[in-house]
Amino acid sequence: MTNPLYDTLFGAHAGKSEAFLHLADGSIWSYEDFLGKVAQIAHAITQAGLAPGDRLAAQLEKTPQALALYGACVQAGVVFLPLNTAYKTSELAYFIENSGAKLVLCDETKRADLAPLAESYGARIETLNADGSGSLSEAAKDLPLQFDTVARAPDDLAAFLYTSGTTGRSKGAMLTQNNLLSNAETLVDYWHFSSDDVLLHALPIFHTHGLFVATNVILAAGGAMIFLPKFDLDQMIAALPKATTLMGVPTFYTRLLDDPRFTAELVADMRLFVSGSAPLLAETHKAFEARTGHRILERYGMTETNMNTSNPYDGERRAGTVGFLLPGVELKITDPATGKALPQGEIGQIEVRGPNVFKGYWQMPEKTAEDLREDGFFITGDLGQIDEDGYVSIVGRDKDLIISGGYNIYPKEIELVLDAQPGVLESAVIGVPHADFGETVLGLIVPEPGADPDLDAIAAETGKSLARFKHPRKLLLIDDLPRNTMGKVQKNVLRDTYADALA
Ligand code: ATP
Ligand code: MG
Repeated sequence: MTNPLYDTLFGAHAGKSEAFLHLADGSIWSYEDFLGKVAQIAHAITQAGLAPGDRLAAQLEKTPQALALYGACVQAGVVFLPLNTAYKTSELAYFIENSGAKLVLCDETKRADLAPLAESYGARIETLNADGSGSLSEAAKDLPLQFDTVARAPDDLAAFLYTSGTTGRSKGAMLTQNNLLSNAETLVDYWHFSSDDVLLHALPIFHTHGLFVATNVILAAGGAMIFLPKFDLDQMIAALPKATTLMGVPTFYTRLLDDPRFTAELVADMRLFVSGSAPLLAETHKAFEARTGHRILERYGMTETNMNTSNPYDGERRAGTVGFLLPGVELKITDPATGKALPQGEIGQIEVRGPNVFKGYWQMPEKTAEDLREDGFFITGDLGQIDEDGYVSIVGRDKDLIISGGYNIYPKEIELVLDAQPGVLESAVIGVPHADFGETVLGLIVPEPGADPDLDAIAAETGKSLARFKHPRKLLLIDDLPRNTMGKVQKNVLRDTYADALA
């Protein structure tokens, strides 16, 4: 009997007394401690009536126990469905109903609100709190430290991970054991992870970045994590000297750079900084290198596919690109109208195929058929291009493409020009309705702290470097860009807010 994901990521560490988790309070969970908790929770959820293939929905604070729940689901063959802690009860109804979860886990403080909902969908509800207590912990605490791992095939489902909902309603991506395992093994190799690594983990564990990229890579390598509940500057500064690697979203890096305590000496023992989930500004990449001597390694992936491309470990990490195809991943740039591959260098939709690509969206056969071709290529919804050296760049999402007077306009190209202007911290370019052109370009600019950028001068500059049809019709100063929990700019929110700006 085998269970490839469990055996490789978890079971391989049975009996190891080495540290797996270093917690903020100074305590340590060894691999043995962690696997004991995994087994106890596997017993508890099995006793609660979950059978292999059933779904378990969990909206939990980031704790070692919540991470052990992931392991327990893998060991018991239960499909793990972590949910963003920001979701409100009304939003959770969709996920609980959509997933058909048999067990819902939440914080004690949310139980009263959620219980009627869970009940109405025939799901049982248990609790696991931020301090590790709760009805699940109570049920698990005296159960055996060994659990007979449930056999699973590589193609069996391991998790439903809901997409971030940046472009619309979140979709449940069905991920198999092999989707997760193949990607973890590829990344260990590509990024040179070993059991000597200590990863500073400050990402949420309900999203692919913190759960699968970071955690699975460390489990596959047998390394350790400094496991912080969230990104907290003081805790980050204290932990960095003890870590060897950090995986973060771009805002981690801009926030670190804003702190004078973040110095080259502080990170002298670090070997790797990885960024993803949202575009890293080339400027951040440069400022980071100037401050620390390290070049951030940017990579590109998504809930449906895990990681697809990465800048190289040893070769040139090129700012503004997401690097090369990972081994085993195929990627092509196609014409959105025909689906045919475009010549090298042209911008088109990014399609990927490989062992990492998901099985489809749960209970969304039409959406699955639309995005996942019969030959296995997944249409990512991102637009990009590949340069002559093989570096992939993302130019934005197809839903953010502006079509004005029949011309395609890629917001990123204009944002790069705006970002480079004096006094500009960052920018977002969106298409807004326009009577003659269908859509026209609006530039939203966030000033650097204390700066008062000269919009006329900026308009004149963009006029020099961009073709006329790309010129923003209007520039507006705004305080900040709306971002979701993964640091992604919510352009749909901006489009709604500024829908009438040029009407
Ligand atoms: P939804 O699919 O629900 O609209 P989402 O696409 O934001 O939400 P995720 O799966 O969390 O949900 O994010 C994947 C997306 O994040 C990618 O499709 C891409 O647009 C973006 N992304 C990830 N890494 C990078 C990167 N390095 N540079 C630019 N964009 C990135
Ligand atoms: Mg998406």
